[in-house]
Amino acid sequence: MIPVTLPFIPPKEDYDILLHGIWKRQWLTNMGPLASDLEMKLKEHLGVEHLLFVTNGTIALQMAIKALNLKGEIITTPFTYVATTSSIVWEGCTPVFVDIDPKSLNIDHTKIEAAITANTSAIVATHVYGNPCDVMAIEKIAKKHKLKVIYDAAHAFGVEINGNSIFNYGDISTCSLHATKLFHSGEGGLVITKEPKLLKELAHIRNFGHSGPETFHNLGINGKNSEFHAAMGLANLNYIQAIHDKRKLLTERYDEKLKTFKAFKPLWHKDSKANYAYYPIVLENEGFLLKCIDFLKLNEIFGRRYFYPSLPSSLPYLKSKPLQWADDISKRVFCLPLYFNLTLEEVDMICRLLLRVQNN
Ligand SMILES: *Cc1c(COP(=O)(O)O)cnc(C)c1O
Repeated sequence: MIPVTLPFIPPKEDYDILLHGIWKRQWLTNMGPLASDLEMKLKEHLGVEHLLFVTNGTIALQMAIKALNLKGEIITTPFTYVATTSSIVWEGCTPVFVDIDPKSLNIDHTKIEAAITANTSAIVATHVYGNPCDVMAIEKIAKKHKLKVIYDAAHAFGVEINGNSIFNYGDISTCSLHATKLFHSGEGGLVITKEPKLLKELAHIRNFGHSGPETFHNLGINGKNSEFHAAMGLANLNYIQAIHDKRKLLTERYDEKLKTFKAFKPLWHKDSKANYAYYPIVLENEGFLLKCIDFLKLNEIFGRRYFYPSLPSSLPYLKSKPLQWADDISKRVFCLPLYFNLTLEEVDMICRLLLRVQNN
């Protein structure tokens, strides 16, 4: 069986050494030494000034919305994981969906201004599959209309624009370190900001709003993560280059073998390099996609319709109508298996099967 993804697992000895320290210290959570160490190493690895290790990527988004004190309408993308949208609603704001660009599959920045009203407070955009949004254009619009910007960078670990971490854009960027993501700590997330004042707000929010044992600075939540998760992150971080290299190798093999396959890949930002988080393809129509899915399934191979269905029409708590491109693309996009232990031979087999469906 070939699933769409499998988490990278570090050698057990690497994790055991870190567990040994946890047992000795008996310090299990609440900004422990491993969590601090992970934060320090990630700042250095990513080239960002401030970041906080939090419970997960969803709490990271909710903390970001809270820290910026957002109210009213938030402009966002319909082509993302549900957590981007649910976080906006959970924080009492109204998502206003702007269609995506059918080439990059990111929010179409040329359509943002038309959606701005007197009630708009922010833009929450996703770097879909790790492919950076047009951050310069979005920043310009945000400045002009005095809007805050949050990037859901859950897919974008390690991505840079002209050598600068993608996490350095927007007022706050968030990342997910969930087991299915490129770099993971089992469960986990990051909030990243360049602004020391925002960092302070976020740090308090992560810890129930506490400013001292008996004093409070703001409305907080429990956004802390444990030493066990930090240990998994630390163990994995030592292998991030190997993870990157293997995924690059597999991606290039897919590219080569699928040259004649009728599908396109999202157009990547011109000043950025891929992080190989996913291998998404957009097929010509849904019928062809369903045939491919069925034939792969017969051979015990499972990709994922990611993101499908498009959000506004599928969420029972929203009344929004579907948007043209997001709806169309979500019906024919498919992520092929991509993970560290996948082999070149398996990629070859997947490609052979896909081409067989096309040629039938
Ligand atoms: C995974 C994901 C999230 C949620 O992250 P969790 O760590 O699972 O809470 C949010 N947004 C996007 C785009 C994601 O892919």
